[in-house]
Amino acid sequence: MKKTVICPGSFDPVTLGHLDIITRASRMFDKVKVAVLINSAKTPCFSIEERMELLREATRGLENVEIVSFEGLLANYCREQKVHAIVKGLRAVSDFEYEFQMAITNKKLNPELETIFLTADSDSMYLSSSMVREIGRMGGDIRNFVPACVHDRIVSRLKSL
Ligand code: ADP
Repeated sequence: MKKTVICPGSFDPVTLGHLDIITRASRMFDKVKVAVLINSAKTPCFSIEERMELLREATRGLENVEIVSFEGLLANYCREQKVHAIVKGLRAVSDFEYEFQMAITNKKLNPELETIFLTADSDSMYLSSSMVREIGRMGGDIRNFVPACVHDRIVSRLKSL
């Protein structure tokens, strides 16, 4: 049976940390669905279309990766898609408690669902989308934080805010 996993997140915008997790998952599993969360309660910096387009561009070389979006509960989305595993990146101890709680809650909501954690790469373990947004907005250099192929688009979008 082909093993499909979901890498969920806001990806507002995609960073080298996200790309590292997606790339490693794509080597471990047959198919990786990168699922961008549509959260109507929050106003993201990048629109859902922009976030998906940046991810598509950043993962162009990875043939078994597909970019999708979802609204509502991840546990339900996984059930609908018949996907039984979520892959997430763990950056530091600070991520652990929240992620542990989420993993247990998702399993309660959908007992067939496993959460697999990959440890962040030492080069990107300090990286977050919010840090990229903040530095970019203030005109700082984000070249070491985002995939090179989408750098210019992210910079010009952040400058326009
Ligand atoms: P962010 O916290 O950057 O806004 P997202 O909600 O978009 O992140 O995160 C999507 C997934 O990517 C989560 O599993 C998160 O733990 C993981 N992730 C985010 N940044 C990194 C990073 N620098 N290294 C490894 N994993 C990361």
